[in-house]
Amino acid sequence: MLLGALGGILLNVGGGERRTELTERLPAGLQRVAIVDNAARTQWNVTTTEGTTAEWIVDPGSPRSTGVFRTFEEMSKQQPALYELYLERGQSVAHVWGKRCQNLGNLFLRLLKMVAVPLIITSLLSGIIGIGGASRFGRMFTRTMFYYLATSMLAIITGIILVNLIRPGLREGPSTAASGGESIEGKGLGEVIFAQIEALLPANPAAALVAPDFLSIISFTLFVAIFALRCGGGVADRLKKAADTGFAIMMEMTMAIIRLAPLGVFFLMMYVTATQGISVFRSLGWYLVTVTLGLLFHGVITLPLIVWLFSKRNPWQFAKAMSPSLLTAFSSASSNAALPLTISSAEQRAGISNRTGSFVLPLGATINMDGTALYEAVAVLFIAQVYHGEALPLASQVIVALTALLASVGAAGIPHAGLVMMVIILQAVGLPVEMQGIILAVDRILDMARTTVNVWSDACGAAIIDAFESPENRLPNNEELQQKPR
Ligand code: ASP
Repeated sequence: MLLGALGGILLNVGGGERRTELTERLPAGLQRVAIVDNAARTQWNVTTTEGTTAEWIVDPGSPRSTGVFRTFEEMSKQQPALYELYLERGQSVAHVWGKRCQNLGNLFLRLLKMVAVPLIITSLLSGIIGIGGASRFGRMFTRTMFYYLATSMLAIITGIILVNLIRPGLREGPSTAASGGESIEGKGLGEVIFAQIEALLPANPAAALVAPDFLSIISFTLFVAIFALRCGGGVADRLKKAADTGFAIMMEMTMAIIRLAPLGVFFLMMYVTATQGISVFRSLGWYLVTVTLGLLFHGVITLPLIVWLFSKRNPWQFAKAMSPSLLTAFSSASSNAALPLTISSAEQRAGISNRTGSFVLPLGATINMDGTALYEAVAVLFIAQVYHGEALPLASQVIVALTALLASVGAAGIPHAGLVMMVIILQAVGLPVEMQGIILAVDRILDMARTTVNVWSDACGAAIIDAFESPENRLPNNEELQQKPR
């Protein structure tokens, strides 16, 4: 990341601006074309053979007006000949090399997209069927789900409030990383929510797979898992075996792709800093601050308060008991990797019963990800601020909140899974997936922090559910089962 950033900055400093004066081989009717290309804007000054002059500008930061475009795409549509001249003879070195690096970095993003659909499907199937006839667990299941959804939503709300207060994407002015910059279309909230409900009920699951429409994929996979459990007669077992096999393969594949992350980060950082200059760090710095503050607030204030209120435990003592699992989560950036330690710390060090721990914690590692939910919401709103040069309207922020919740449910407990799932949210609010490139550079460090919050929330959930399990509601534990007369 540092190497890429450094290379990009050097390119930006050394070749960030190019001034070209063209008087030969010009399109018919033109006498002279002067092009000034730099990180902030590109300008064409044109003199026709009749002596009249005109000016064309591409500047993502300025409002559209006659002769001023926010994107090269718009310019190329209106002035194809001038745009061609720019591509062939007017681009700065930083833009030429930035584009090449972007193409290489995009290969890494393509790989992430490649695994997203099969990873989500197999992870969800294996997790949901794995809880084995969840409906039997009645109240415990309902409470657990309620806890998961409520805390994830609280995390998302914290993130959204902070990103609107701090406005990390608007601090350095609009970014040239934006390739589109379409103005945001305001839709009514009702319309927006109804569209999400429709997406949850795919008319054609195969079409959703091909699109891919992640919301529809998640909801259909959940339906399949739930109805497989209802079928009985070993149907769910057979499906689980297949899903486990697929999940193991997809995990291996994802881990292999993640090993390429340094290369992907290198090229994408080079692209971003070459075309944008050092300001990206300043705006990424604010993004880092926003996510970190949100995670801290949720992990240090919200969750401990809930634990204290509902389980009557001392949150500090409880965190100390869970520390082996939290440290593993931080260093591995994987809820799954930390799971064995989460279960053993909860049961042996924090005194949570085995029946609660063995149900709540594995399920939590798969579907309860408060840190990921918060990060997804902040990251997408940050990207939107950078891309559009303004904050998303309220209706779109509601979509971000709802889809971030679903994305966190669908994310696997492995490093960078949240990054893969972010595609859902970007797609829901019409942002280009390529914009993920701008946050990739700091993803690992944020992944470590959000995974710790994910695991901490699972543990807090187990403590609360355990406290709620009055003896008559409790499922028999192992010793009780063994003592039961047969
Ligand atoms: N690494 C996270 C986890 O395992 C998921 C994510 O990427 O947000 O919990």
